Amino acid sequence: MYYKRRVKKGPIIAIVVIILVIILVICGINLYKYYTSDEYLLGEAGYSEKEIKEILKFDEKYITYAIENKYEDDFIPLIKEKYFLWKNYDNYIKYIDDVYGDKKVDYSKVISLVNVGANFEPYTHTKKTDMDKGNAILVNKYTSLPEKYAPSDVVEMSNWYSYPGNSIRKEVYDAFREMFNAAKEENLTLIVNSSYRTYEVQKEIYDDYESNRGKEYADKYAARPDFSEHQTGLSVDIFSPGSNMSTFEGTDEFKWLSENSYKYGFILRYPKGKEDITGYSYEAWHYRYVGKDLAKKVYDSGLTYDEYYAYYLDN
Ligand SMILES: [Zn+2]
Repeated sequence: MYYKRRVKKGPIIAIVVIILVIILVICGINLYKYYTSDEYLLGEAGYSEKEIKEILKFDEKYITYAIENKYEDDFIPLIKEKYFLWKNYDNYIKYIDDVYGDKKVDYSKVISLVNVGANFEPYTHTKKTDMDKGNAILVNKYTSLPEKYAPSDVVEMSNWYSYPGNSIRKEVYDAFREMFNAAKEENLTLIVNSSYRTYEVQKEIYDDYESNRGKEYADKYAARPDFSEHQTGLSVDIFSPGSNMSTFEGTDEFKWLSENSYKYGFILRYPKGKEDITGYSYEAWHYRYVGKDLAKKVYDSGLTYDEYYAYYLDN
């Protein structure tokens, strides 16, 4: 007898179906992964392959932003900048559009100016400084002291250290004396020319300029009351005996201060070439006390205090 071998088809069909289902599921998952991948979504948002590669190197939040927002050709150069601050992104873009148009953009400068608020005119968009910051408080043309602020621990300076009529906060005086003595060991003499100024005195100075030469001139050469670092009791104008605003930069005392003041807690507040950031002309003589630790950090950063504060302390 010959029996036709009977093949049971049921299990084979079942196996084939299972395999097909598995293949379909894998394809589906892959397809889903493809359509939801950052690469795909960035491509859809308008970025080129090269740009996508750049963006993918950054934090998830940047990638998400790039996906959710329309293509922006300033996006990558901006987020590559060291001092990029996410909260300022829209202001960077607005500033670039307003100021640069089609010209080549200096992104580093855009970041600096917008971070410190200097994309606005001085004394517009002002806010009160955070007094909880203590010796680190920021005072500039956008950030003021509380109204008619006066520190409580101001002491008079001896004429060994200053021209007559100077006073300063106790802690600053101690730090200045330490710095003075260190300079003395190098046969250099520092002398304080101007220090703590009350609201009233600052107002007098400003009003004087204003009534004689107009508001624009006054704003250029004097700070408005409550906006002056001298009113904090943390700033000193330092000269060597006999030098003045135009000659101090050429003295050995200035050279020494440039290299050493941070060791005693003082930083040069209005450096050369940073006028548009600080809002002040270069002042070789104006030093601000922030304490030794912070002074070293600011010095090492190479930033103006406005930039340093915006990035590290107000963020
Ligand atoms: Zn000064």
